[in-house]
Amino acid sequence: MDHIDIEKTACPCCSGRNYGECCKPFHLKEKFPQTAEELMRSRFSAFAIPNGEYLIETTSPAKRKLYGKEDLQEWGKINQWTKLQIVKTYGKNMVEFNAFYNDADGHSQIHHEISLFEKLINRWYYVAGKFSK
Ligand SMILES: [Zn+2]
Repeated sequence: MDHIDIEKTACPCCSGRNYGECCKPFHLKEKFPQTAEELMRSRFSAFAIPNGEYLIETTSPAKRKLYGKEDLQEWGKINQWTKLQIVKTYGKNMVEFNAFYNDADGHSQIHHEISLFEKLINRWYYVAGKFSK
């Protein structure tokens, strides 16, 4: 599937809106997420598409060296991302979520994470996550 095909389909982040009206403007840098949750949703969509470049660009500049664009792209690609569930937000900069996906062997998995975000010069960035099963 390429980007054009999915424009009018449901956004991967499960917002209930079309991709073209939800996360796409963020991925194209036409708009920037106003909240940590919006950024989190757009990053989930970026794994689903996948868009490794967006994932790197929305990672905190101080943490970027820990990640590789190709690795993020590959992680997005080998898994099939089926659903995002926002569990809770804490304050302005923490979001707890479950990301549902099927791994390369077709097993359904749930990635549970509490992510920490930071805002620098009016842009939100992903800093780090706490994982648990
Ligand atoms: Zn979305």
